[in-house]
Amino acid sequence: MEQTNLLGTSFNCKCGKQHIVPTKHRFYEDNAFDLLLDTAKSITDGLNYLILADTRTFEAAGRIVEEKLKFGAAGVSHFIVPDNDGESPAADAGTKDLILDQAPPADLYIAVGSGVINDLVKWVAFLRDKPYITVATAASMNGYASANVAATIDGLKVLFHANACQAVFAVPEIIINAPFELTTSGLGDVLAKSVSSADWRLNKFLFNDYYCQFSVDLLKKLEPVYLDNPGEIKEKNPTAFKALFEALFLSSIAMTITGTSSPASGGEHLISHTIDMTADRDGRKHDFHGRQVGVSSILTAALYERVMAIDKPTFIDMPDTINSEFWGSLSPVVEKEYAKKIPKFDQAAEFLSQPKNWDRLKALIKPDLVPPVKLKNCLMQAGGAHRFMDIRDNGLPLKKDKFLLIVKHANQMRERFTILDLALMIGITFEEIEQLVEKWVS
Ligand SMILES: [Zn+2]
Ligand SMILES: [Zn+2]
Repeated sequence: MEQTNLLGTSFNCKCGKQHIVPTKHRFYEDNAFDLLLDTAKSITDGLNYLILADTRTFEAAGRIVEEKLKFGAAGVSHFIVPDNDGESPAADAGTKDLILDQAPPADLYIAVGSGVINDLVKWVAFLRDKPYITVATAASMNGYASANVAATIDGLKVLFHANACQAVFAVPEIIINAPFELTTSGLGDVLAKSVSSADWRLNKFLFNDYYCQFSVDLLKKLEPVYLDNPGEIKEKNPTAFKALFEALFLSSIAMTITGTSSPASGGEHLISHTIDMTADRDGRKHDFHGRQVGVSSILTAALYERVMAIDKPTFIDMPDTINSEFWGSLSPVVEKEYAKKIPKFDQAAEFLSQPKNWDRLKALIKPDLVPPVKLKNCLMQAGGAHRFMDIRDNGLPLKKDKFLLIVKHANQMRERFTILDLALMIGITFEEIEQLVEKWVS
């Protein structure tokens, strides 16, 4: 099926699933906002719309969206999601409750913003059982058409299922002129695909988990546009921005139709989540998701390269508890996730010890791996974060020792098996990880 015909469709896939694409429209064009009213009317008969934005995204797009809708519709109002300690709002339970408490009811919710605003509106619209649409203000993340809410609950980064938005509107000028770090953050997030799909294949091979090649292939045509010409992102080339936005959008479609974040989230995301969680725990501010994910993707690509070079692995016993000294007050929630992973270590070791299975794994994973040097150059030339010290930890460069500890423990925070687990299982040492960090992300 052609990608362009995907929106609003359902189809039977070779993976065995019937895929349903709930998002019906995606407009990336100069006059996208002129199409808002008719699209809104096609989604609901109710004429009571509520725009949710933060102070910045309201100025970037919210105000003009409200004017456009007011011009033709009935009740449209807006609610500004408050900042969090002078920083962008957070997608956490407290903010969600605040919106539920204070934002008036509506027939249609309009998220104006990117990551956090989208997650919050998706969450609130789901709880109020109403549809929502998205006005994108940056090519900063791959959740625009995702049904998953990425939120923080009890300190743990979690993903849970809600409903995807009905339509996404983006005006190229707004996307291109968004704060540049948001764009390179989007680039970092989309580059994770090369390693996350390897992790997904790994799970299919080891545990016979569900896997969908169609979803993995969705971005294939677009990838060369930004992967081979990253300088064009820096130069604000409209074609490169369009490809990046489209790739982020398709990445969210891939997650939605498969019902899992696996197409776009593997070990590199666990590193980023661990940075977020430990920062939140310590009352420190972390960096943008995609900036952390981009740096982590270079490192996990290097780990893959290292692991795939091994001829015959031997397996070490993995710890049967988490390191509670590292996780501190997060230990109880992390412990629960790790407990689900423990049986997988033995299962994986046993399977990979059988004749030829290691070679079969390498034959399966290697062809589609993007080498770390390519990811590194892409982020570097685009002007994005590509070294651990580029990641801001409470406004300061993240320290190497801290990054190393995070990399070492990130596998414990979620059940999903990734290259981080495989690398530790076959005895890649802390010193070797440090060498890879030195070589690739310093
Ligand atoms: Zn499929
Ligand atoms: Zn991501």
